Amino acid sequence: MTNPPMLPYGRHVIDDDDVAAVAAVLKSNALTGGPAVDQFERALADVTGAAEAVACSSGTTALHLAVLGLALKPGDQVVVPSLTFLATANCARYVGADVVFADVDAATGLMTPETFREALTRGGAGRVKAAIPVHLNGQACDMRGLRDVAAQHGISLVEDACHALGTTYPGNDTVPVGACRDAVAACFSFHPVKTVAMGEGGAVTTNDPVMAATMRRLRGHGMERNPLESSIPEFALAPDGTPNPWFYEMNEIGWNFRASDIHCALGLSQLKKLPQFLHRRQELVALYDTALKPLAPLVQPIGRTGGAVGWHLYAVQIDFAAAGKDRATVMRALAALGIGTQVHYFPVHLQPYYQRLYGRRTLPGAEAYYSRCLSLPLFPAMADADIARVTDALVRVLGRN
Ligand SMILES: *Cc1c(COP(=O)(O)O)cnc(C)c1O
Repeated sequence: MTNPPMLPYGRHVIDDDDVAAVAAVLKSNALTGGPAVDQFERALADVTGAAEAVACSSGTTALHLAVLGLALKPGDQVVVPSLTFLATANCARYVGADVVFADVDAATGLMTPETFREALTRGGAGRVKAAIPVHLNGQACDMRGLRDVAAQHGISLVEDACHALGTTYPGNDTVPVGACRDAVAACFSFHPVKTVAMGEGGAVTTNDPVMAATMRRLRGHGMERNPLESSIPEFALAPDGTPNPWFYEMNEIGWNFRASDIHCALGLSQLKKLPQFLHRRQELVALYDTALKPLAPLVQPIGRTGGAVGWHLYAVQIDFAAAGKDRATVMRALAALGIGTQVHYFPVHLQPYYQRLYGRRTLPGAEAYYSRCLSLPLFPAMADADIARVTDALVRVLGRN
């Protein structure tokens, strides 16, 4: 008897048309800096309803570009929920700003207006310049509520939407995440485990044309090619005043955070399938919810915000104490049955780097969510039968039958 294939907690789905799209770029003249970047940016702007999308090399560089676009600097503070991937907090450190970790709701894992306000009581007076709420698992935060708090304190909001491509806001199912109605920018990742894959890739959406131009400049070394507006016209222009064709200049430090045409062609091809991907993810989530009902209260889906969610992860909360097994034992036993799981996330405020910077604090919501969470396999190529396979394995491992 052969073992059934390992089900990872998440993975990309690549079809022949994705392969063909990448192959077409490989046979073209432009592997980078070509038309696929603009096409991908246009398509993502359309999907999210934002005026602009700026493609870049990862979700991490998207967050980095967003904080650069806000001109954050040393001495500034950024509120970040502790229950997230490292990059949400790290982007503040890249520009020398400090992180104030916000707690999250223990049931949903989301930063709320209340946990935002509480974090502000720990920030320095007038120092908190930005906050980066995270749409964990694909569920959107209460952006209206967060915006009201932010507005009272002159704080800019950037959404970490790496989990939430295709989600619409609760209570407003016509507005997609990334439309930036309540935030200045939203950051996306196209890592293969996310809903749309580019290999490595990311993007920032915004309705602010100045911020978009800044981010485009800084993803390419800070280079500018406007000889007629140059701050060094003696180099930019020939003696007769005509622009020198080779000329470029740099007025501020930038990076190479570009996305190549190879990656953008894959992103564009994948984006066309977003409605199918989302639909299948929602079907699988509904099957899980039903299949897991008999396991309550030992195993329960995370708290729900309602609305149309572009599910990235299927996370459950497990009462490991009641099961009499610790999480590592459960994960290993599931892996032995071919079921991959993961923990999203170890609270970032407990990372040694951040503890050394800011000391050890307790954020009870984040720590409670973390202590019980487990992400089960979720990706569009899963069969209906895979859901039964996962839930049967959970029953076996947790000792309920
Ligand atoms: C994946 C992810 C990132 C970083 O994206 P990369 O493309 O891996 O750099 C940032 N924040 C969250 C919440 C993520 O899930």
